[in-house]
Amino acid sequence: MCVQCSDSAEYFIHCNGCGARGPRCLSKENLSILPRLLEESLLRTVIDESPDIVCLKNWRGEFLLCNQSLARLYNSTPEQMVGKTDADFNDDQSQVLFFQKSTQEVISGGQVQVVEEASTNKATGEVRYFQSIKKPLKGPDGSDRVLVIAHDITELKLAYQIIEEKEKRYSYAMDAAGEGIWDWDIEHNVVRHNMKWCQLLQLDDTLLTHDMAVLGKLIHADDIASMMSALNTALEGTGYYSSEHRMVRPDDSEIWVHDRGRVVEQNAEGKPLRMVGSINDITSRKVFERRLAETNRRIERSKEQLEGQVVERTAALARLNQELEELAKRDMLTGVGNRLRLDDWLVAQPEGNACVLVMLDVDHFKQVNDRYGHKVGDEVLQNIAQSLVLSVRRDDLVIRWGGEEFLIVLSPTDINQAVLIAENLRLTVSGLNALPDGSKVTASLGVAGGLCREFDRVLVEADSAMYVAKQAGRNRVIAAPQAPKAIP
Ligand code: GH3
Ligand code: MG
Ligand code: MG
Repeated sequence: MCVQCSDSAEYFIHCNGCGARGPRCLSKENLSILPRLLEESLLRTVIDESPDIVCLKNWRGEFLLCNQSLARLYNSTPEQMVGKTDADFNDDQSQVLFFQKSTQEVISGGQVQVVEEASTNKATGEVRYFQSIKKPLKGPDGSDRVLVIAHDITELKLAYQIIEEKEKRYSYAMDAAGEGIWDWDIEHNVVRHNMKWCQLLQLDDTLLTHDMAVLGKLIHADDIASMMSALNTALEGTGYYSSEHRMVRPDDSEIWVHDRGRVVEQNAEGKPLRMVGSINDITSRKVFERRLAETNRRIERSKEQLEGQVVERTAALARLNQELEELAKRDMLTGVGNRLRLDDWLVAQPEGNACVLVMLDVDHFKQVNDRYGHKVGDEVLQNIAQSLVLSVRRDDLVIRWGGEEFLIVLSPTDINQAVLIAENLRLTVSGLNALPDGSKVTASLGVAGGLCREFDRVLVEADSAMYVAKQAGRNRVIAAPQAPKAIP
C-alpha cells in the first residue's frame, strides 16, 4: 500500500517487516515516471520532517495521509493511521467532534480556514494547542479532501496564559490598593491607573490608561512648574519623585494630592523606562495647614499690635515717669526747683567746680499773711519766684528753700559779680507790685562762694550772711565775711 495515496500504490513499495519505503523497481517502460517519483519522494520527506502536523482527510475524517508529527501525537505511525479517524487515537470526544465538524465545514464551505484547536497526546494525555490551516482539495477521483497543516502553539499559548495571569494579578493588586496607583510607560508616554486613582479624580474608572498629555491638563496651572521640576529630578538622577500639588477634576473642583513614585525600569544606558507611584488625597490636611497658617498670621498680627501697644505704653510711662520726676523736683506752689533739684545739680557738678549761693528771705512775711491772708501770701511767693527766674541767667538755679526762703545758685562767677547779681535780685523783689493795695515787699539776701564739694559750709555762710542782713535792718545784701565788701 502507498504511503502517500492509494492511487499511487503502483509506484511505491513499503515493507511491513523492516519499514523500508521507496519507489518500486521501475521497468524500462516506466522509466518516464522517474522524475515524478523523485519529486514525490522529496515532498514526502519534507512533509515527514516538518515539525508541523500535516495530514489529508476525506469527508468522513479518515486520514489519507499524515506525517510523523501527527503520528507522534497519536502514538502511532503515519502508515498505521491511514484509513483511520481521530476517534481511533483520541479519547476526548469533544476534540474529535470538533475535528469532524471542522473538516466538513471546510469541505462544504470550499474556503481555507484558520482555526485554533486542541488535541490530546495519546501517550502522555497532555493537551496540545494548534493553529491549523485547513484547505479544501479534490482527489484524483474528484472526491473531497481537506489538507490540514497544524502549527503547535502550546508553548506560545502557555506563555500568553502566564502573561494574562500576571496581568490579572497586577490588575487585582492595583484594584485592591487603597491608594490611587499609577504606572508610567515612559517610552510610550502612557500611564496606566487603578480604579481608585480614577475615582479620586472623578474620571471614568473604566478607562484606566491615559496619555501623559491628558494628565498634564489635570494639574493645577500654578503647580505644574514645581511638579515637573520634582519629576525631572527623579528622572535625571535620584529616581525618586515626590510632589504636593493641586489637581483639577472635570467639575473644576480642586484636590490637594501627595504624589510619590520611583523609577522601576531602566535601559542599559540607565535611561528610565518605567515609573510607578501613588497619590494620596491630602486636601483636608492642606485645609487644616492653611487655617493654621492663617491663625498663626492673626496671632502674629495681634502680637505685633500688642508689642506696639506695649512699646507705646512703655514710652508713655517713661514720659510720665520723667514728668513725675520733674514734678518731684519742682516746688508745687511756685514751680521753681526744690531741694531734690538742687541734689541733682550737685551730683552733676564736676570735681573742683566752684559755686556762689545767694540765700533770699522775704522780710516780715508773716505780716503779709496776717494782713492779706494766706492766699495772697501764696500769690506773693509765686510772683517773687517768677521774677527771680526771669532775673537770673539760664544756667543759674532758683530753689525754694523753705516757706518764704529762696536759694539762688549762681554758675561759677566772681563773688563781687555775685553780690551785684544779688543786689539786682533784691531790687527786683522790692520793685514788684506784690500786694493788692500796691504795697511792696522786700527781701534780705546773704551771699557766699566756695567749692561745690563744700556746699554745706557755703550754704551756712550764705544763710549766716542773710541773717546778718536781717540783723542789719533787712532789705539788703550781705556777703559772707571773706567777701571783700558788702553793699547796703
Ligand atoms: P523775718 O523778716 O524775720 O523773716 O520775718 P518773717 O515774718 O518773714 O519771718 P517768720 O519766720 O516769722 O515768718 C515766716 C512766715 O512765712 C510764717 C509763715 O506763715 C509764712 N509762710 C511760710 N510758708 C508759707 C506759704 O507757703 N504760704 C504763705 N502764705 N505763707 C507762708
Ligand atoms: Mg524765713
Ligand atoms: Mg522772712
